[in-house]
Amino acid sequence: MDNSRFIAKHVLNLPKSGIRDFFEIVAKMKDVISLGIGEPDFDTPWHIREAGIYALEKGKTHYTSNLGLIELRRAISKYVEKNFSISYAPENEIIITVGVSEALDLACRALINPGDKVMYHQPCYVSYSPSITLAHGLAVPVPTFAKDDFALTVEALRAAWQPGCKLLMLNLPCNPTGGTCDRAQIEAIAKFAIEKDLLVLSDEIYSELTFAGVHTSIASLPGMQERTIFLHGFSKAFAMTGWRIGYACGPAALVEAMMKVHQYSMLCASILSQEAAIEALVRGEDAMKAMRDQYHRRRDFMVRRFNEIGLKCHLPRGSFYAFPEVSKTGLSEKDFAVGLLQTEKVAMVPGTAFGPNGSGFCRACFATSYEQLIEAATRLERYVAAVAAKK
Ligand code: PMP
Repeated sequence: MDNSRFIAKHVLNLPKSGIRDFFEIVAKMKDVISLGIGEPDFDTPWHIREAGIYALEKGKTHYTSNLGLIELRRAISKYVEKNFSISYAPENEIIITVGVSEALDLACRALINPGDKVMYHQPCYVSYSPSITLAHGLAVPVPTFAKDDFALTVEALRAAWQPGCKLLMLNLPCNPTGGTCDRAQIEAIAKFAIEKDLLVLSDEIYSELTFAGVHTSIASLPGMQERTIFLHGFSKAFAMTGWRIGYACGPAALVEAMMKVHQYSMLCASILSQEAAIEALVRGEDAMKAMRDQYHRRRDFMVRRFNEIGLKCHLPRGSFYAFPEVSKTGLSEKDFAVGLLQTEKVAMVPGTAFGPNGSGFCRACFATSYEQLIEAATRLERYVAAVAAKK
């Protein structure tokens, strides 16, 4: 029996993530060097894991408040104040979520009315457009370009803006491009948001992994805190993807609206993950910096090698992704990635998995060991030479 008629139309028409499709093929192969899935190769630092274990031993096996443990919200408040210069009240301006993924979904469901338009820069994280669609909003992509090192420009925002735009999603530094904006560029975006009366959803999950310049949060700029939801989490900086823990900070009324959706869907984030997250914020800085230094070293190596091999690659200023251009090989990003996987067993993600503006590019995650990266670069070089010889 065909059951598809029972599926809601907006879900039926939603495409599956291009990344997962690709990695189902990878999972069936042996000895693949994966520059694919975006997660740290490091396990969670031991003292953070211990905090989770200890919480379990102490019998912390219960629900927490819907907003999350007040101790964690206090720690987040301090951390965000110290590192982002924004001050949020732990009592009513912070909500703990099941990763930034849930925070993003809550924000979309709590803030988007059917038909509201949401701007976001593209190439972008695979969840943005579907999250907007699932909340019955209309996605308005704004292109970013290699010539700008994939920074979001106000010119592109202005060109894409249309009446009915209510929200602007930002992800700086950006997955998949590693692009980010300097302070002057963020100030210009903030001015634009005020001029057009946009609410900003700022996903700053890669902010600790900023290698060039200083990360500026748009929420810290004058007039912006009142119109920004700041999204952050533990997955990347503290290597805690499997703990599923993140948070959103914003004006009390908006956090309250998000809390209602959270309360009736998720109830609360796992208490064990919340306990471990406190440890990450209070004592995790050294471990986080040590991992960041490794990513920095790997970035420099990988970007140098891409350019030597003839795959032009801008220097990503943050995140753990490089986004080299592969079109000069004469292959589409999909054919390039499939051929590379089949002949040399190196997995990279075709740029179009991150939207049509990723055409001609592939994403390489360098959160893998230095030794593996050296081997991956050798294989890539051989592959590109073989493709050129066939031309
Ligand atoms: N935002 C971006 C930009 C991401 O790249 C990811 C994970 N790849 C997420 C959010 C989701 O993170 P979490 O594990 O906190 O749900």
